[in-house]
Amino acid sequence: MACFFSFFFPTMSSCCPNAVIGFSNKSFSIQSYAGKDIKAGEEVFCSYFCLRQSAREREEKLSPYGFKCKCRACQFATPSSDTFRKVSEEKVVKFRDTFKSNTDPSRWANLLSVGLQLEKQMREEGLDLMEGPYYILRSTIAELYRLLQVGSGHT
Ligand SMILES: [Zn+2]
Repeated sequence: MACFFSFFFPTMSSCCPNAVIGFSNKSFSIQSYAGKDIKAGEEVFCSYFCLRQSAREREEKLSPYGFKCKCRACQFATPSSDTFRKVSEEKVVKFRDTFKSNTDPSRWANLLSVGLQLEKQMREEGLDLMEGPYYILRSTIAELYRLLQVGSGHT
């Protein structure tokens, strides 16, 4: 008896994905799930390569397949956006670690503004999937908001 495995990618690729691909051991299949809110009728995009790569690196990866990504991150890539993609995860980890080691409530508001700026940059760059670094960032921001509310007596 022959076995045939059909690997098919359920969505198009984008460097600003709104969905994530995973492998289900239970059903032995590739599955995608929403990484952020997806409106009715909106196309679902996953990324099939590392989002930390520069626009040029991403283009080189896709060129053998005759595919040129037309997402906004590729269309409007700059040296600055390429650098941000490479360091965004480290920035999130540094932000979270700074928060965890900071017990001085007088610094929380300033730290919150740093986190909100980082969140804005990640959204603009299309790195706002609710998993990995962005999830960590949002969780830390939520915790800061909670502490600031408690601290100011507005519980
Ligand atoms: Zn792209």
